[in-house]
Amino acid sequence: MIDQKDINICTQTIKSDSQYYCPFSPDIVMTTSFKFNSFEDFCQASIDEKNHYVYTRGSNPTTVKLENALAQLDHGEKCKVFASGMGAISATLLSLLKKGDHLLMANTIYGEAASFAQFLGRFGVDSERIDVDNTADIFKHVRNNTKIIYFESPSSEKFELLDLKMISDFAKKHHIITVIDATWASPLFTKPLDSGVDLVIHSLSKYVGGHSDTVGGCVTGSEELVNQIFEYGHQFLGSTMSPFNSWLAIRGLRTLPVRMQHANQAIQTILDGLKDDPRIAYIHHPYCYSGEQKQLADKYLTGYGSLFAIDLNTKDLDKVKIFIDSLKLISIGVSWGGYESLALAVYKGNNLAALNKRKIKPTHIRIYVGLEEPQSILNDIKQALDKAFV
Ligand SMILES: *Cc1c(COP(=O)(O)O)cnc(C)c1O
Repeated sequence: MIDQKDINICTQTIKSDSQYYCPFSPDIVMTTSFKFNSFEDFCQASIDEKNHYVYTRGSNPTTVKLENALAQLDHGEKCKVFASGMGAISATLLSLLKKGDHLLMANTIYGEAASFAQFLGRFGVDSERIDVDNTADIFKHVRNNTKIIYFESPSSEKFELLDLKMISDFAKKHHIITVIDATWASPLFTKPLDSGVDLVIHSLSKYVGGHSDTVGGCVTGSEELVNQIFEYGHQFLGSTMSPFNSWLAIRGLRTLPVRMQHANQAIQTILDGLKDDPRIAYIHHPYCYSGEQKQLADKYLTGYGSLFAIDLNTKDLDKVKIFIDSLKLISIGVSWGGYESLALAVYKGNNLAALNKRKIKPTHIRIYVGLEEPQSILNDIKQALDKAFV
């Protein structure tokens, strides 16, 4: 179910400011800087760049239109967009952490974000990634100097859920900032800020962009925190989303509700067709979960994203290769959230030890269900399984 208000935000609220025409699409303001009428005007703008147009590395009218829409969708006070999801993640962590702080990451995290956390060790930030079965187990790892609890729910690779309210209640008591990467569900299917999480991050390169033609990211939360991230991480790292890419993301927002509605239905059709297949040992997707994971999905998701993973029911890794090479409609490629279905195996021929350490089966294959006709996508998976399991 998609909130009616969200559909209106995506389809109606983003308007052009043109005084001369009435275009349906907002203007792309392609400029590096902005002209001032007086000494006084410039002084006022430059002391508060986050709220004035001075230079496009800071803010730009097209980008601000996107930020305002995303802030409303995520129920936050303020949003800042970045040149990529990683731009948003790195700027957020660098802005809020300092030497001596402890950063706690729970469950499987987007690979580059986990690597960045380790890299912060060079600057005296102690990061730790933990795997938990129950949300409450996170708290055993909290230290006196824990500054941020960072998580994804559903998480990358395993699509496991955490209890957002439980984490944010605990964190508030201990003055810890909570950050969630909610890219999987898009801003339409989960509202983490409503459960008390401080900051929500999305990669706009996935569902929001939606057409495999733009890279971007965003962070949304209180004005106080987002202003801090603007002042340090955004301005110093310079990961600015170009006005043109902001415009592409706005174009993506227009159809986000209908695309997410489709994703929610298509994934259920496909998983219904796969869930009793004996050649699949496990399906990683909230629609297939039971028990506590199912309860968390019902509590925190209002729809399903269409990225999932299967573990093949075999120890023979040649079957992984045959399966991938036999796909016809589904392409081999990174990223997801566009129009085309994609598949990727985690096994790369030389990384068994690393997978084992991360408790990921070498037969784990990630599949993104795109906008093609769902039964055809299911048939493609079935025929590739037939080839692998002759
Ligand atoms: C893709 C992705 C990112 C990184 O976003 P980019 O826009 O590629 O930098 C972060 N988190 C998740 C969950 C992602 O899927």
